[in-house]
Amino acid sequence: MKKLGKYSIGMGDRFGHQGHAQLEAVIEAGKKGIDITPVWNKSNREHNIIGTEPGDVRKEADAVTKKAGFRKPYFVDADHINLETVDRFIESSDFFTIDVASYIGKRAGNDEIQAFLQGAEKYSGVLKIPGIRNPLKVSINQIAGIAEKYLFAAIKAWEIFRKIEKSKGKGNFVTEVSMDEVSHPQTPVELFFILKMLGEESIPVQTIAPKFSGRFNKGVDYVGDPEYFSDEFEADLMVIDFAVREFGLPDNLKMSIHSGSDKFALYPEIGSVIKKHNKGIHLKTAGTTWLEEVIGLAESGGKALEFVKEIYCKSLEKTEELCAPYADVIDINVSKLPSKAEVLKWNSKKFADALRHIPGNPSYNPNMRQLVHVAYKMAAERMDEYVHLLEANEKTVAKCVFENMYKRHICRLFDLK
Ligand SMILES: [Zn+2]
Repeated sequence: MKKLGKYSIGMGDRFGHQGHAQLEAVIEAGKKGIDITPVWNKSNREHNIIGTEPGDVRKEADAVTKKAGFRKPYFVDADHINLETVDRFIESSDFFTIDVASYIGKRAGNDEIQAFLQGAEKYSGVLKIPGIRNPLKVSINQIAGIAEKYLFAAIKAWEIFRKIEKSKGKGNFVTEVSMDEVSHPQTPVELFFILKMLGEESIPVQTIAPKFSGRFNKGVDYVGDPEYFSDEFEADLMVIDFAVREFGLPDNLKMSIHSGSDKFALYPEIGSVIKKHNKGIHLKTAGTTWLEEVIGLAESGGKALEFVKEIYCKSLEKTEELCAPYADVIDINVSKLPSKAEVLKWNSKKFADALRHIPGNPSYNPNMRQLVHVAYKMAAERMDEYVHLLEANEKTVAKCVFENMYKRHICRLFDLK
Protein backbone atom coordinates (compact mmCIF):
# COMPACT_ATOMS: atom_id res chain seq x y z
CA MET A 1 0.00 0.00 0.00
CA LYS A 2 1.21 3.51 -0.80
CA LYS A 3 1.91 4.91 2.62
CA LEU A 4 1.98 8.49 3.69
CA GLY A 5 4.93 9.44 5.91
CA LYS A 6 4.61 10.44 9.54
CA TYR A 7 4.70 14.15 8.83
CA SER A 8 3.17 15.59 5.71
CA ILE A 9 2.10 18.99 4.56
CA GLY A 10 -0.58 19.81 2.04
CA MET A 11 0.43 22.67 -0.17
CA GLY A 12 -1.78 24.50 -2.62
CA ASP A 13 -0.32 26.24 -5.58
CA ARG A 14 -3.27 27.76 -7.34
CA PHE A 15 -1.39 29.24 -10.29
CA GLY A 16 1.23 26.52 -10.51
CA HIS A 17 4.34 28.67 -10.14
CA GLN A 18 5.48 28.14 -6.54
CA GLY A 19 6.02 24.39 -6.36
CA HIS A 20 9.76 24.88 -6.29
CA ALA A 21 9.72 27.39 -3.43
CA GLN A 22 7.31 25.18 -1.47
CA LEU A 23 9.51 22.14 -1.98
CA GLU A 24 12.53 24.14 -0.81
CA ALA A 25 10.76 24.65 2.52
CA VAL A 26 10.30 20.89 2.87
CA ILE A 27 13.93 20.26 1.90
CA GLU A 28 15.11 22.82 4.45
CA ALA A 29 13.12 21.05 7.18
CA GLY A 30 14.74 17.77 6.11
CA LYS A 31 18.16 19.32 6.69
CA LYS A 32 17.04 20.08 10.25
CA GLY A 33 16.01 16.45 10.79
CA ILE A 34 12.28 16.82 10.16
CA ASP A 35 11.21 14.61 7.28
CA ILE A 36 8.04 15.99 5.72
CA THR A 37 6.23 14.47 2.76
CA PRO A 38 5.02 17.18 0.40
CA VAL A 39 1.48 16.81 -0.90
CA TRP A 40 0.21 19.17 -3.57
CA ASN A 41 -3.52 19.64 -3.21
CA LYS A 42 -6.08 21.45 -5.31
CA SER A 43 -9.82 21.17 -5.07
CA ASN A 44 -12.36 20.94 -7.85
CA ARG A 45 -13.60 24.42 -7.01
CA GLU A 46 -10.09 25.84 -7.34
CA HIS A 47 -9.58 24.12 -10.68
CA ASN A 48 -12.88 25.48 -11.95
CA ILE A 49 -12.22 29.03 -10.83
CA ILE A 50 -8.70 29.12 -12.26
CA GLY A 51 -9.36 27.00 -15.33
CA THR A 52 -6.77 24.29 -14.67
CA GLU A 53 -6.97 20.50 -14.78
CA PRO A 54 -5.82 18.04 -12.11
CA GLY A 55 -3.15 16.83 -14.55
CA ASP A 56 -1.52 20.28 -14.31
CA VAL A 57 -0.80 19.74 -10.61
CA ARG A 58 0.77 16.36 -11.38
CA LYS A 59 2.97 17.91 -14.08
CA GLU A 60 4.15 20.61 -11.71
CA ALA A 61 4.84 18.22 -8.82
CA ASP A 62 6.79 15.86 -11.08
CA ALA A 63 8.75 18.73 -12.62
CA VAL A 64 9.76 20.50 -9.41
CA THR A 65 10.75 17.33 -7.58
CA LYS A 66 12.79 16.16 -10.56
CA LYS A 67 14.52 19.51 -10.92
CA ALA A 68 15.38 19.59 -7.21
CA GLY A 69 16.59 15.97 -7.22
CA PHE A 70 14.02 15.18 -4.53
CA ARG A 71 13.98 11.41 -4.24
CA LYS A 72 11.55 10.96 -1.39
CA PRO A 73 7.83 10.29 -1.82
CA TYR A 74 5.45 13.11 -2.70
CA PHE A 75 1.77 13.08 -3.55
CA VAL A 76 -0.87 14.86 -5.59
CA ASP A 77 -4.10 15.20 -3.65
CA ALA A 78 -7.56 15.32 -5.22
CA ASP A 79 -8.80 17.66 -2.53
CA HIS A 80 -12.41 17.49 -1.33
CA ILE A 81 -13.74 15.20 -4.03
CA ASN A 82 -17.04 13.37 -3.96
CA LEU A 83 -18.89 10.94 -6.21
CA GLU A 84 -19.74 13.70 -8.69
CA THR A 85 -16.33 15.32 -8.96
CA VAL A 86 -13.81 12.49 -8.56
CA ASP A 87 -13.58 11.34 -12.19
CA ARG A 88 -11.23 13.89 -13.65
CA PHE A 89 -8.84 13.48 -10.72
CA ILE A 90 -8.41 9.74 -10.91
CA GLU A 91 -5.61 9.51 -13.43
CA SER A 92 -3.29 12.17 -12.07
CA SER A 93 -3.81 11.88 -8.30
CA ASP A 94 -2.39 9.38 -5.85
CA PHE A 95 -3.98 10.92 -2.75
CA PHE A 96 -7.74 11.38 -2.48
CA THR A 97 -9.51 13.51 0.10
CA ILE A 98 -12.96 11.97 0.12
CA ASP A 99 -15.28 14.69 1.35
CA VAL A 100 -18.39 13.33 3.03
CA ALA A 101 -19.57 16.62 4.55
CA SER A 102 -22.57 16.93 2.25
CA TYR A 103 -23.75 13.42 3.20
CA ILE A 104 -23.64 13.99 6.96
CA GLY A 105 -27.11 14.14 8.48
CA LYS A 106 -28.71 12.04 5.74
CA ARG A 107 -30.11 8.84 7.16
CA ALA A 108 -28.91 5.40 6.12
CA GLY A 109 -31.42 2.57 5.74
CA ASN A 110 -32.94 0.97 8.85
CA ASP A 111 -31.26 -2.38 8.19
CA GLU A 112 -27.88 -0.73 7.82
CA ILE A 113 -28.34 1.24 11.02
CA GLN A 114 -29.50 -1.87 12.91
CA ALA A 115 -26.54 -3.90 11.67
CA PHE A 116 -24.15 -1.17 12.78
CA LEU A 117 -25.76 -0.92 16.21
CA GLN A 118 -25.41 -4.64 16.76
CA GLY A 119 -21.66 -4.41 16.28
CA ALA A 120 -21.36 -1.17 18.26
CA GLU A 121 -23.43 -2.19 21.25
CA LYS A 122 -20.46 -3.55 23.14
CA TYR A 123 -19.01 -0.04 23.34
CA SER A 124 -22.03 1.36 25.15
CA GLY A 125 -21.82 2.17 28.86
CA VAL A 126 -18.37 3.23 29.95
CA LEU A 127 -16.02 3.52 27.01
CA LYS A 128 -12.45 3.26 28.23
CA ILE A 129 -9.98 4.60 25.74
CA PRO A 130 -6.35 4.27 26.83
CA GLY A 131 -4.81 7.70 27.31
CA ILE A 132 -8.09 9.48 27.98
CA ARG A 133 -8.22 10.22 31.68
CA ASN A 134 -11.95 10.39 32.20
CA PRO A 135 -13.72 7.35 30.75
CA LEU A 136 -16.38 8.38 28.24
CA LYS A 137 -19.96 7.47 28.91
CA VAL A 138 -21.93 6.40 25.87
CA SER A 139 -25.52 5.27 25.81
CA ILE A 140 -26.95 3.05 23.10
CA ASN A 141 -29.27 5.92 22.18
CA GLN A 142 -26.28 8.14 21.68
CA ILE A 143 -24.68 5.56 19.39
CA ALA A 144 -27.94 5.30 17.46
CA GLY A 145 -27.90 9.08 17.04
CA ILE A 146 -24.36 8.94 15.72
CA ALA A 147 -25.30 6.16 13.29
CA GLU A 148 -28.25 8.17 12.04
CA LYS A 149 -26.06 11.16 11.48
CA TYR A 150 -22.92 9.58 10.02
CA LEU A 151 -23.54 6.06 8.69
CA PHE A 152 -24.85 7.22 5.33
CA ALA A 153 -21.72 9.38 4.89
CA ALA A 154 -19.51 6.38 5.67
CA ILE A 155 -21.35 4.28 3.09
CA LYS A 156 -20.86 7.06 0.53
CA ALA A 157 -17.17 7.24 1.41
CA TRP A 158 -16.97 3.54 0.63
CA GLU A 159 -18.68 4.05 -2.74
CA ILE A 160 -16.25 6.79 -3.67
CA PHE A 161 -13.31 4.76 -2.43
CA ARG A 162 -14.41 1.73 -4.49
CA LYS A 163 -14.76 3.86 -7.58
CA ILE A 164 -11.20 5.13 -7.21
CA GLU A 165 -9.82 1.71 -6.35
CA LYS A 166 -11.42 0.16 -9.40
CA SER A 167 -9.49 2.51 -11.67
CA LYS A 168 -6.25 2.89 -9.78
CA GLY A 169 -5.88 -0.56 -8.32
CA LYS A 170 -5.56 -1.68 -4.74
CA GLY A 171 -3.00 0.09 -2.60
CA ASN A 172 -1.97 2.58 -5.26
CA PHE A 173 -3.19 5.69 -3.50
CA VAL A 174 -3.59 7.32 -0.11
CA THR A 175 -7.11 7.80 1.25
CA GLU A 176 -8.21 10.66 3.45
CA VAL A 177 -11.76 11.17 4.68
CA SER A 178 -12.75 14.76 5.46
CA MET A 179 -15.70 16.06 7.42
CA ASP A 180 -14.44 19.53 8.23
CA GLU A 181 -16.74 21.60 6.04
CA VAL A 182 -19.78 21.31 8.32
CA SER A 183 -21.20 23.66 10.91
CA HIS A 184 -20.64 21.55 14.06
CA PRO A 185 -17.44 19.92 15.30
CA GLN A 186 -17.30 16.17 15.85
CA THR A 187 -16.61 15.04 19.41
CA PRO A 188 -14.01 12.37 20.19
CA VAL A 189 -16.88 9.91 20.83
CA GLU A 190 -18.37 10.65 17.42
CA LEU A 191 -14.95 10.27 15.86
CA PHE A 192 -14.59 6.84 17.47
CA PHE A 193 -17.81 5.53 15.94
CA ILE A 194 -17.12 7.18 12.59
CA LEU A 195 -13.83 5.30 12.50
CA LYS A 196 -15.70 2.12 13.33
CA MET A 197 -17.95 2.75 10.33
CA LEU A 198 -14.96 3.35 8.05
CA GLY A 199 -13.35 0.17 9.40
CA GLU A 200 -16.49 -1.83 8.69
CA GLU A 201 -16.51 -0.54 5.15
CA SER A 202 -12.84 -1.59 4.88
CA ILE A 203 -11.67 1.85 3.84
CA PRO A 204 -7.89 2.01 4.41
CA VAL A 205 -8.07 5.58 5.64
CA GLN A 206 -4.63 7.05 6.38
CA THR A 207 -5.71 10.54 7.32
CA ILE A 208 -8.93 11.78 8.84
CA ALA A 209 -10.01 15.40 8.90
CA PRO A 210 -12.66 16.08 11.52
CA LYS A 211 -14.01 19.49 12.28
CA PHE A 212 -12.53 20.80 15.51
CA SER A 213 -13.97 23.29 17.97
CA GLY A 214 -13.26 26.94 17.30
CA ARG A 215 -12.97 28.78 14.01
CA PHE A 216 -10.49 27.73 11.34
CA ASN A 217 -10.80 30.73 9.09
CA LYS A 218 -8.83 30.82 5.87
CA GLY A 219 -5.42 32.40 6.04
CA VAL A 220 -5.72 33.82 9.56
CA ASP A 221 -5.12 32.62 13.07
CA TYR A 222 -7.31 30.27 15.08
CA VAL A 223 -10.29 31.82 16.84
CA GLY A 224 -11.09 29.95 20.03
CA ASP A 225 -9.42 28.60 23.12
CA PRO A 226 -6.11 26.90 22.23
CA GLU A 227 -6.10 24.94 25.49
CA TYR A 228 -9.54 23.54 24.82
CA PHE A 229 -8.43 22.66 21.32
CA SER A 230 -5.35 20.95 22.71
CA ASP A 231 -7.43 18.68 24.98
CA GLU A 232 -9.84 17.87 22.18
CA PHE A 233 -6.99 17.17 19.77
CA GLU A 234 -5.22 14.91 22.26
CA ALA A 235 -8.43 12.97 22.94
CA ASP A 236 -8.90 12.54 19.18
CA LEU A 237 -5.39 11.14 18.88
CA MET A 238 -6.11 8.60 21.62
CA VAL A 239 -9.34 7.67 19.87
CA ILE A 240 -7.44 7.10 16.62
CA ASP A 241 -4.90 4.89 18.40
CA PHE A 242 -7.59 2.76 19.95
CA ALA A 243 -9.67 2.64 16.76
CA VAL A 244 -6.70 1.44 14.73
CA ARG A 245 -6.37 -1.57 17.01
CA GLU A 246 -10.08 -2.21 17.43
CA PHE A 247 -11.17 -1.80 13.83
CA GLY A 248 -8.11 -2.88 11.87
CA LEU A 249 -7.46 0.50 10.27
CA PRO A 250 -4.01 1.32 8.81
CA ASP A 251 -1.49 1.75 11.62
CA ASN A 252 -0.27 5.04 10.19
CA LEU A 253 -3.74 6.63 10.39
CA LYS A 254 -3.25 10.21 11.51
CA MET A 255 -4.99 13.49 11.91
CA SER A 256 -5.34 15.91 9.03
CA ILE A 257 -5.84 19.56 9.87
CA HIS A 258 -7.72 21.45 7.20
CA SER A 259 -7.53 25.21 6.81
CA GLY A 260 -4.33 24.52 8.73
CA SER A 261 -2.34 27.46 7.43
CA ASP A 262 -1.71 30.39 9.74
CA LYS A 263 -3.02 28.72 12.91
CA PHE A 264 -0.04 30.09 14.79
CA ALA A 265 -1.81 29.94 18.16
CA LEU A 266 -2.27 26.19 17.72
CA TYR A 267 1.09 25.08 16.35
CA PRO A 268 2.83 24.92 19.74
CA GLU A 269 -0.14 22.90 21.10
CA ILE A 270 -0.26 20.52 18.15
CA GLY A 271 3.52 20.23 18.15
CA SER A 272 3.73 19.32 21.81
CA VAL A 273 0.83 16.82 21.73
CA ILE A 274 2.17 14.91 18.71
CA LYS A 275 5.62 14.90 20.28
CA LYS A 276 4.25 13.63 23.59
CA HIS A 277 2.50 10.68 21.90
CA ASN A 278 4.96 10.23 19.04
CA LYS A 279 2.25 10.80 16.43
CA GLY A 280 2.24 12.06 12.90
CA ILE A 281 0.28 14.92 11.38
CA HIS A 282 -0.96 16.13 8.02
CA LEU A 283 -1.28 19.89 7.88
CA LYS A 284 -3.26 21.22 4.97
CA THR A 285 -2.37 24.70 3.83
CA ALA A 286 -3.53 25.99 0.51
CA GLY A 287 -4.43 29.60 -0.20
CA THR A 288 -1.61 30.93 1.91
CA THR A 289 0.76 30.55 -1.05
CA TRP A 290 -1.43 32.68 -3.30
CA LEU A 291 -1.36 35.37 -0.60
CA GLU A 292 2.43 35.25 -0.64
CA GLU A 293 2.37 35.78 -4.39
CA VAL A 294 0.34 38.93 -3.86
CA ILE A 295 2.71 40.09 -1.11
CA GLY A 296 5.74 39.34 -3.28
CA LEU A 297 4.27 41.32 -6.16
CA ALA A 298 3.49 44.21 -3.83
CA GLU A 299 7.11 44.21 -2.68
CA SER A 300 8.30 44.14 -6.26
CA GLY A 301 6.77 47.59 -6.77
CA GLY A 302 6.04 49.25 -10.11
CA LYS A 303 3.57 47.46 -12.34
CA ALA A 304 3.36 44.49 -9.98
CA LEU A 305 2.29 46.71 -7.08
CA GLU A 306 -0.22 48.45 -9.31
CA PHE A 307 -1.63 45.10 -10.38
CA VAL A 308 -2.22 43.80 -6.85
CA LYS A 309 -3.78 47.13 -5.86
CA GLU A 310 -6.20 46.73 -8.77
CA ILE A 311 -6.96 43.17 -7.68
CA TYR A 312 -7.75 44.39 -4.18
CA CYS A 313 -9.92 47.29 -5.36
CA LYS A 314 -11.84 44.98 -7.70
CA SER A 315 -12.37 42.49 -4.89
CA LEU A 316 -13.73 45.29 -2.69
CA GLU A 317 -16.49 45.80 -5.26
CA LYS A 318 -17.20 42.07 -5.36
CA THR A 319 -16.82 41.22 -1.69
CA GLU A 320 -20.16 39.46 -1.43
CA GLU A 321 -19.75 37.37 -4.54
CA LEU A 322 -16.20 36.31 -3.63
CA CYS A 323 -17.02 35.45 -0.04
CA ALA A 324 -20.23 33.50 -0.65
CA PRO A 325 -18.65 30.08 -1.39
CA TYR A 326 -16.42 30.45 1.68
CA ALA A 327 -19.00 31.66 4.21
CA ASP A 328 -18.19 28.91 6.75
CA VAL A 329 -14.46 29.54 6.70
CA ILE A 330 -14.02 33.30 6.72
CA ASP A 331 -15.03 36.12 9.08
CA ILE A 332 -14.55 39.49 7.48
CA ASN A 333 -15.44 42.73 9.22
CA VAL A 334 -16.25 44.77 6.13
CA SER A 335 -16.02 48.06 8.01
CA LYS A 336 -12.33 47.34 8.67
CA LEU A 337 -11.40 46.82 5.04
CA PRO A 338 -9.18 49.67 3.80
CA SER A 339 -10.90 51.78 1.14
CA LYS A 340 -9.84 52.02 -2.46
CA ALA A 341 -8.65 55.61 -2.00
CA GLU A 342 -6.55 54.60 0.97
CA VAL A 343 -4.90 51.61 -0.70
CA LEU A 344 -4.08 53.54 -3.86
CA LYS A 345 -1.82 55.77 -1.75
CA TRP A 346 0.09 52.85 -0.21
CA ASN A 347 3.69 52.01 -1.05
CA SER A 348 5.07 48.47 -1.36
CA LYS A 349 5.89 48.11 2.29
CA LYS A 350 2.52 49.31 3.53
CA PHE A 351 0.64 46.95 1.21
CA ALA A 352 2.83 43.97 2.06
CA ASP A 353 2.62 44.68 5.80
CA ALA A 354 -1.17 44.89 5.70
CA LEU A 355 -1.37 41.50 4.07
CA ARG A 356 1.52 39.58 5.60
CA HIS A 357 0.55 37.54 8.65
CA ILE A 358 2.81 38.94 11.34
CA PRO A 359 0.74 39.00 14.55
CA GLY A 360 1.38 42.21 16.44
CA ASN A 361 2.36 44.23 13.39
CA PRO A 362 0.04 47.26 13.62
CA SER A 363 -0.30 47.35 9.82
CA TYR A 364 -1.46 43.73 9.58
CA ASN A 365 -5.14 43.57 8.59
CA PRO A 366 -6.74 40.12 8.90
CA ASN A 367 -9.92 41.36 7.20
CA MET A 368 -8.04 42.43 4.12
CA ARG A 369 -6.04 39.20 4.24
CA GLN A 370 -9.16 37.05 4.22
CA LEU A 371 -10.72 39.00 1.40
CA VAL A 372 -7.60 38.68 -0.75
CA HIS A 373 -7.44 35.00 0.21
CA VAL A 374 -10.72 34.36 -1.59
CA ALA A 375 -10.01 36.84 -4.40
CA TYR A 376 -7.72 34.65 -6.52
CA LYS A 377 -10.49 34.61 -9.10
CA MET A 378 -9.68 38.26 -9.83
CA ALA A 379 -6.14 37.28 -10.82
CA ALA A 380 -7.40 34.28 -12.78
CA GLU A 381 -9.48 36.66 -14.90
CA ARG A 382 -6.29 38.39 -15.97
CA MET A 383 -4.21 35.25 -16.19
CA ASP A 384 -1.65 36.29 -18.83
CA GLU A 385 -0.79 39.52 -17.07
CA TYR A 386 -0.63 37.79 -13.71
CA VAL A 387 1.62 34.98 -14.84
CA HIS A 388 3.86 37.44 -16.63
CA LEU A 389 4.26 39.43 -13.41
CA LEU A 390 4.94 36.28 -11.39
CA GLU A 391 7.66 35.30 -13.81
CA ALA A 392 9.17 38.77 -14.00
CA ASN A 393 9.38 38.95 -10.20
CA GLU A 394 10.06 35.31 -9.55
CA LYS A 395 12.85 35.75 -7.02
CA THR A 396 11.01 38.14 -4.73
CA VAL A 397 7.82 36.06 -4.83
CA ALA A 398 9.62 32.75 -4.25
CA LYS A 399 11.37 34.21 -1.21
CA CYS A 400 8.00 35.18 0.28
CA VAL A 401 6.54 31.73 -0.42
CA PHE A 402 9.53 29.96 1.08
CA GLU A 403 9.70 32.10 4.21
CA ASN A 404 6.00 31.75 4.84
CA MET A 405 6.02 27.98 4.50
CA TYR A 406 9.29 27.36 6.28
CA LYS A 407 9.63 30.03 8.95
CA ARG A 408 6.05 30.83 9.81
CA HIS A 409 4.62 27.33 9.42
CA ILE A 410 7.11 24.46 9.58
CA CYS A 411 9.43 26.05 12.17
CA ARG A 412 6.53 26.90 14.45
CA LEU A 413 4.87 23.51 14.16
CA PHE A 414 8.04 21.50 14.72
CA ASP A 415 9.71 23.95 17.05
CA LEU A 416 12.71 24.51 14.77
CA LYS A 417 14.94 27.50 15.28
ZN1 LIG B 1 -10.84 21.09 4.01
